[in-house]
Amino acid sequence: MNKQDITSIKQLLYTKKKIVIVPHKNPDGDAIGSTLGLFHYLIKGNHNVHVIVPNDYPSFLKWLPGNDTILKHDIQTKECNTLIKEADVIFTLDFNAFHRTGNMETVLTESSALKIMIDHHQAPDDYATYMFSDVNMSSTCEMVYHFIDMLGDSNAIDSNIATCLYVGIMTDTGSFRFRSTTSTTHKIVAKLIEKGADNSEIHNNIYDSNNYERLQLLGCALTNLRVIPESRTAYITLSQNELQKYNYKKGDTEGVVNYGLSLDGIVLAAIFIEDKKEGIIKISLRSKGDFSVNELSRAHFEGGGHINAAGGKSHLSLNDTVEKFISILPSYNKALNDE
Ligand code: 5GP
Ligand code: MN
Repeated sequence: MNKQDITSIKQLLYTKKKIVIVPHKNPDGDAIGSTLGLFHYLIKGNHNVHVIVPNDYPSFLKWLPGNDTILKHDIQTKECNTLIKEADVIFTLDFNAFHRTGNMETVLTESSALKIMIDHHQAPDDYATYMFSDVNMSSTCEMVYHFIDMLGDSNAIDSNIATCLYVGIMTDTGSFRFRSTTSTTHKIVAKLIEKGADNSEIHNNIYDSNNYERLQLLGCALTNLRVIPESRTAYITLSQNELQKYNYKKGDTEGVVNYGLSLDGIVLAAIFIEDKKEGIIKISLRSKGDFSVNELSRAHFEGGGHINAAGGKSHLSLNDTVEKFISILPSYNKALNDE
């Protein structure tokens, strides 16, 4: 996004606009934090703004300021489609291609609204008029901060905006520990705290709101953890039966994949979660160093993401998916052992 783009966007937002903000399907902390952060900023400019999510998200995100204004496309389909069709401007946040919004893909593709992308995933599509895409950014929330700052409006950042943006930076950086966390990230986080983000309370709301069954499910996942030492890989499986046994709710498996990566010497970690309703195995992949799970996921599991964090899916059974994963590992052994 260059100076010219910023000048044009400033001009565009100078008059009242109908604006829709959309994150990816199964929104996470960065998706909800960035869309709501931008929402709170844009309503200050008197625009008519709606955040539309493709589907539901974990309850540990439902305390964020503005949560009650969020519309869900899978439930309020008609209302959402009308808003999208009538929108002047659509911001697409925290994803790189329309298919990442699931069933919203068609209505977004057909929309004639001006599109502004803010995103940090690899290989962005080129549907947007204005594109702020940077794979080196820790999070889309960090980018929304830069976006507001580039518009010369950092003084407009209040405690609501700061709280939302803090959430996404914290969750996408694994609480400021992943490699994508830079000194700039920390400077922005410091400013967000100054603007009213209560860092301790936010951490508490996101990470310390577990219930007993979720911890039991984590115990089950850790029991299922397997290690393949020659490939420096660890993986976890969770079957539909296991999820049901512990009364699984959306978000309960968030972060579980990272336990594999916490083992000494492990470079690649995976979790395979059976989803009978969607008829797929949902896969999360994490890595250390230069080993790209984005590439592995693109090549074998219809997915993508970042170098060190990616997702994907498989239409095979849980067992067959794990077998496929194990069978492709030897071709990566050299790269995994070079780390
Ligand atoms: P997670 O494993 O937490 O679902 O996702 C890790 C990262 O990969 C996130 O940034 C997420 O947006 C991205 N991601 C997850 N699933 C997919 C997918 O199916 N396709 C692509 N392109 N990215 C994905
Ligand atoms: Mn993100």
